[in-house]
Amino acid sequence: MAQFMELAEVFEELEKIASHKEIVRKIADLFLGLEGKEVRDSAYLFLGSIGPAFENPTLGMGDKLALKAIAGAYGVSEEEVKERYARTGDLGDVAFELNRKGEGNSLTIEDVFSRLNEIKKATGKGSQDEKIRLLSEILQRARPEEGKYILRITLGKLRLGFGDQFLLEAFSIAFAGDKKYLGRIKESYSVCTDIGELAEALARYGPGELGHFSIRLGRPVKSMLAQRVEYFEELEKRIPGEKAAEEKYDGERVQIHKNGNEIQAFSRRLENITSQYPDIVEAIRKNIPVDKVIIDGEIIAYVQKGEDSTEEFHPFQKLMQRRRKYEVEKYTEILPVAVFFFDILFLEGKSLLKEPYPKRRSLLEEQVKESGIIRLAKRKVTESLEEIEEFFNDALEKKLEGIVIKSMDNDSIYEAGKRSWFWLKWKAEYAKGMRETFDLVIVGKYYGRGRRKGSFGALLCAALNQEEQRFETFTKVGTGFTDEDAKEIDNLISGHIVPEIPKNVVIKNRMLPDIFIEPAKVIEVLGMEITESPGHTAGEGKGETGLALRFPRFLRIRRDKGPYEATTVKEIRELKERT
Ligand code: AMP
Repeated sequence: MAQFMELAEVFEELEKIASHKEIVRKIADLFLGLEGKEVRDSAYLFLGSIGPAFENPTLGMGDKLALKAIAGAYGVSEEEVKERYARTGDLGDVAFELNRKGEGNSLTIEDVFSRLNEIKKATGKGSQDEKIRLLSEILQRARPEEGKYILRITLGKLRLGFGDQFLLEAFSIAFAGDKKYLGRIKESYSVCTDIGELAEALARYGPGELGHFSIRLGRPVKSMLAQRVEYFEELEKRIPGEKAAEEKYDGERVQIHKNGNEIQAFSRRLENITSQYPDIVEAIRKNIPVDKVIIDGEIIAYVQKGEDSTEEFHPFQKLMQRRRKYEVEKYTEILPVAVFFFDILFLEGKSLLKEPYPKRRSLLEEQVKESGIIRLAKRKVTESLEEIEEFFNDALEKKLEGIVIKSMDNDSIYEAGKRSWFWLKWKAEYAKGMRETFDLVIVGKYYGRGRRKGSFGALLCAALNQEEQRFETFTKVGTGFTDEDAKEIDNLISGHIVPEIPKNVVIKNRMLPDIFIEPAKVIEVLGMEITESPGHTAGEGKGETGLALRFPRFLRIRRDKGPYEATTVKEIRELKERT
């Protein structure tokens, strides 16, 4: 049975060491001498805890109670403990000073670990006194160095200055003989996120155990994350052909584990956040009938607007009001949330991590009944980058931050804990950063489709080619309009509808609008990037490809301008060359 003193001594040494390599070596040496459950318990203790984050391992003891325990253990007044605390700023140091115990018997790791667990488990009426008694008693038995660290761990203030990655390195050396297993240990840790369980398995079975870890109910896996791309076309380069664009919700990542009646929610940091979202738990109970399932999604605060119940989403900061201990129920009313599920990781006893995304998505759709606050991430599957751009513009219109593009390939597995190239994120701020406005001529109108069916769709807009005295299309604007704007524009253009493409307008077949409008009305449009585009005609000819304005947004109607005062193709080309 290993002594807690061994741990305490290593903790003391580690506080003084700065070298990464030396720290890892020291930890590895210690773990080499431990066995079985001691390995597991020590792994938690090194991180200043008594269990994995998802088990909420806090002991529920603050300074006030600890102060009483110290006074009781060493027979001094609370006043004296307070004075010493004011001087040292650390109750661990205070306990160290007051403890007069000499060389006598030390505690075992097991003694300390099980006592800390008892402290945690004391809840309800009279539990504060019980916690004080339990801590006080073990402090009496502890040597000074031991007492110091018992206190720091109890208060959640061990702070040795390193995190779980150092431990993983040490495990590689201690249990696999060298650092070459580190990569595989990290991979296992993404699936088995309980560092104690991982350490114990490695100690017992060696590196052969790696790869055997599987996703399990009650133990969240690390979230898969998206890579970012530098420019829009990179989406096509990284994921050629058919792909899925999903709306990107800027809220809180959540992994839901449903095991019969027991429903748990885990955050991206793998903390148990179930108690914050009673509304979501309730809705899952109703709308996800399957017995055993793990699903992945994003919780977002939202506002429902207007009669047609269009939605707008609140930014992440707002959702953080739901991070509370008290008045949780009240806040489910004050700040309603929805959860958008986009992945399924486990179903009826079977891991789905190695299944490709299209299969996972269809299983997800089978299991999740959309209703009220339970939703599926909205998506569009397409080969066309243009359609993705439109989907992106629609997302911005709803005040979302962007989209996530997902590979549909056979190898598109769920890469737990990785920033994966199977998922790419694209946000408004990634666009090249130009923010220019253009005065463009309306030459066509598209009807609303999908969500906007029956309402305002988009306008095809052109720039003026001065030399040729004609209008060449430059962008299709579908966002930024209020309902009033839409009505006003419909009024303005109603007198200018023509049956075919006007002679002085050049439109590519693939851009043909539902209605042609003769050049007469000008609107101001904000855009973020000018790109070469086979779809538009602005500046096309003489060996040049047409130019297009990317991520356009309607700003206002320019009643003061006529079509021949619109932004010219020449100006656009110059701007493109400058930016
Ligand atoms: P970021 O935090 O900017 O790296 O973006 C990745 C995060 O976007 C993920 O961790 C999720 O929490 C969040 N997210 C929102 N919507 C989706 C979606 N449809 N698919 C994947 N991740 C999403």
